[in-house]
Order: sequence, then C-alpha cells, then structure tokens
Amino acid sequence: MTDTPQQLKALPAPLLAWYDGNRRRLPWREDVSAYRTWVSEIMLQQTRVTAVLPYFDRFMAAFPTVEALAAAPEAQLMALWQGLGYYSRARNLQKAAQVIMTQYGGVFPDRYETLIALPGVGDYTAGAIASIAFGQRVPAVDGNVLRLAARITGCADNVLEPKTRAMFRRWMAEILPSDRPGAFNQALMDLGAMVCLPNGQPLCGDCPARGFCAAREQGLQRRLPVREKKSARRVEPLTVFLLHRGDAVAVRQRPDKGLLAGLWEFPNVPGTLTEQQAAAQLAQWGVTPHQWGKRFTDRHVFTHITWEMTVFRLDVQGNGPHDWVWRRPEARERYPMPTAFGKLEKTENICDT
Ligand code: SF4
Repeated sequence: MTDTPQQLKALPAPLLAWYDGNRRRLPWREDVSAYRTWVSEIMLQQTRVTAVLPYFDRFMAAFPTVEALAAAPEAQLMALWQGLGYYSRARNLQKAAQVIMTQYGGVFPDRYETLIALPGVGDYTAGAIASIAFGQRVPAVDGNVLRLAARITGCADNVLEPKTRAMFRRWMAEILPSDRPGAFNQALMDLGAMVCLPNGQPLCGDCPARGFCAAREQGLQRRLPVREKKSARRVEPLTVFLLHRGDAVAVRQRPDKGLLAGLWEFPNVPGTLTEQQAAAQLAQWGVTPHQWGKRFTDRHVFTHITWEMTVFRLDVQGNGPHDWVWRRPEARERYPMPTAFGKLEKTENICDT
C-alpha cells in the first residue's frame, strides 16, 4: 500500500488559507443544510456552476424542504429541471426524498453509509454531504480532486482505474483536517475549478500548492492526470469459407460456450490465409474446389473484438468434416446464424476483389 505522499501532507494548511481568501460565494454555501448541499451537488454533476445558479434558486423556492420535494408533482419537477439535462437526476432526487420521508421520518441521514444508499447518490456526493453539512471526516473525490492529487504528487497512475481512484481517496481521507473537513473538500473543488484547470492550463502562479507541487516542479502539468481508456477492441483476423455444393452451403455449429455460442457459422479459421494456405485448409477438411471463386473482405465489430474477415467463396465437392451441414436455401431458419456471418452471403455479390 503506497503511503500518502509528502506533497499532499503539506497541502491542508495553505489550501485552507487560500480558500478563506478566495472561495466562491455560492447560495448553498451561505445557508448550509444537508438538503441544500445535496440538491446543489446533484445539479452540479456534469453542469457548470453558472448554469446551476438560477436553477438552484428556483428549485429551492418551489421545494424548500425534503418533504416538499417528495410530494412534488412530476410535471412541476420536470419543468423546474428543464434545460439542465440528465433528467434522471431529478427523478432520483425525488425518489431519494421519498426514501428520506418514509424510512428516516423526514430526517436527513447523516452517515456516509446511509447517504450513499440513497438513489442517485454516489461516493462523491455522499462524501460532500457528510463533510459539508455534517462536519464528518469523509473525502469527496471527483475529477477535480483526481487531477489535483495527480499533479501535486506527480503520480502518473491511470486515474480511470478504480485502484488509482481508491488510492487517491485513501490519501485524501488521511490528510482531511478533522476541524474543517467540509471546508477542505470545498477548497479542493474551488482550486480545481478556478486554478488547477484541466487540459494543461493550470494557473500555477496563483496556487497555494505551487511551492511543493510535483507537476509544477517537473513541468508535467500537461501530462497529468493520466487518463487512459481501456485498450481498444482486440482485432482478430479470420478466414471464412463460403463453400457451395450446388445450391447448398456448408455450415457448422459454434461451441456452446463463448462468443455467439451455439449459433451456426460458415467454416472458418483464425488468421488471414493466402490462397495457397486456403487450399491446404480445404484439403485438410476433405473438400476440393472446382474452381477458385470470389475472395472479399468484411469486418464485424463486437463490443470487445473486431473480426477482420477474409472470405473465400468456392464451389466444391466432397462432404467435409462430420459436423458440417450442407444447408439448402429453404432450411435457413433451422440454422440460426449471427449477422457477422449471415451478412457475408449478401456481401459476396458486392465486394469481389
Ligand atoms: S501548482 Fe499548478 S499543477 Fe500544481 S496543483 Fe497548483 S495549479 Fe495544479
């Protein structure tokens, strides 16, 4: 387990001093309650502060309490949310308000574990409410905090990986000051939004961490945080044989486990075979081509794999292996075939190469 880096241990005092002089004045901060903190945090998801401000005021005027929100007509709720987008947020707010009314007697839960169980409340929001409204030492780690932590520590671990996020969360939990956890979390939010800006343009000269920030010292602001999406789809080359005997075509059933399990396919082998290699493969199967027909290529994209297919269309004689069926046109429905293969019968008329 990686110890919390010294740079982060040095952060709380200068960060809080900076926050006291620079914090954003926001309506949910001037008059703090769990309800107001919660609504503001949900509105701020994927949405800029300036866009949220008028919505927040109208929402609070219409639904000043959890009780009012729980009982709100859906049409009114949606009308007040109109333009903010991500409407499931509004629906979840109301669902959670109803849970608070029915399960907690209208009293806003104050424990992180209870908060995170409410509809639409994730780790960050639960941490924000627990720390800001209830003064608990719980971190609130969002994209801003991941960026700050990566830059200040110079950590090049991929922040899109859960283990990196968990590590940063642990570090933040360790450095959270017990006397002002809510202010600390809000200070991180403000620093990320106002100074340590994304896309490699932080205003390091204005930053309370400038004296010990590793990214600033090493000029790594543009490289951090590292956000690497999972590797792209795996590309698998495949050689497929459309083998005709009169008006019948050879098909076989796929294994009953794995991709396209149990469906039918045209005989195929991994890799991209040359004509010579394809001829050897046919001989191995015990079929002989009358003449070499069309060869074409096609591609099929699955969630994690792309098949790059080279397709040989041949008239042949011979029966082939025992598990092949010579499927006649009228029997098509008895041998269900996935699109990846089925489309090749149509493509063969188009893509002659
Ligand atoms: S010094 Fe620059 S890179 Fe480092 S935390 Fe501050 S703004 Fe971000």
